[in-house]
Amino acid sequence: MAAVQEKSFTGKVALVTGGSKGIGAGIVRRLASDGASVAFTFSSSEEKALKLVHEVESGGGKALAMKADSASAEELRAAVIKTAETLGPLDIFVSNAGILTLGTIDSYSLEDFDRMVSINVRAAFVGVQAAAHKMKDGGRIVLIGSNTAIRTAFPGGSIYSMTKAALTGLVRGAAIDLAPRAITVNNVQPGPTATDMSAAHADKVKTLIPLKRMGDVSEIAGLVSYLASEEAGFITGASLTIDGGYVA
Ligand code: NDP
Repeated sequence: MAAVQEKSFTGKVALVTGGSKGIGAGIVRRLASDGASVAFTFSSSEEKALKLVHEVESGGGKALAMKADSASAEELRAAVIKTAETLGPLDIFVSNAGILTLGTIDSYSLEDFDRMVSINVRAAFVGVQAAAHKMKDGGRIVLIGSNTAIRTAFPGGSIYSMTKAALTGLVRGAAIDLAPRAITVNNVQPGPTATDMSAAHADKVKTLIPLKRMGDVSEIAGLVSYLASEEAGFITGASLTIDGGYVA
């Protein structure tokens, strides 16, 4: 009889921001199925968050949902601390929560700009810093950026592209700063992926992707899982694009 293979993340603790739906929920499912205990934050989708906890627990896994607005440094820091207190020190932190507010540069409001920067950029910094304080040496940090850091392609995307381009710089520096602790820091840059965020643009954008389809959240989660694995220990400071060839 074949020996039962232990799951790769058994005994590990992960925290994913914005895990209630879309790519974040895909990452929660994947890390939990890899054996990790997975905490995640959400800001408004409480019903979806609780359903996901139930789903993970029904499959024999462990999940913890926390309401924490990434725009608030206090709430995000508190979520990191609660994860460590409830599940143990972190092995994996995924900064995924993000928003998309489109608008051309000549009319983009300062309020929208500030909100985009606070959730897409400032929260990545706050999350990485707080997670690093509660993380074991040898841990893994993954940010979710976007291939729009490389190619904006449409009118109205300048501020979103700017926030995602900022993450490429953040991971380079953070990777160097945390290297003495063997913590890797990387940035996954998805292309158009089927979620609520992209739904309005899916038909138009699909035709521009060489593979002629949107990405599936499980494909993005697969790359995150790889970067969080032991095997990926020599990858750090990298921004890896996963987009069906969109920017090729
Ligand atoms: P969704 O809108 O489907 O989901 C966003 C998730 O983030 C939800 O769980 C949401 O929770 C959470 N979230 C949003 N705002 C906050 C906040 N202020 N505080 C805490 N949680 C928050 O988006 P996607 O899954 O599509 O996007 C996930 C990430 O992937 C984002 O960073 C996005 O920029 C990036 N991305 C997405 C692409 C795509 O085509 N879908 C392509 C490239 C990158 P709640 O509903 O509770 O607010």
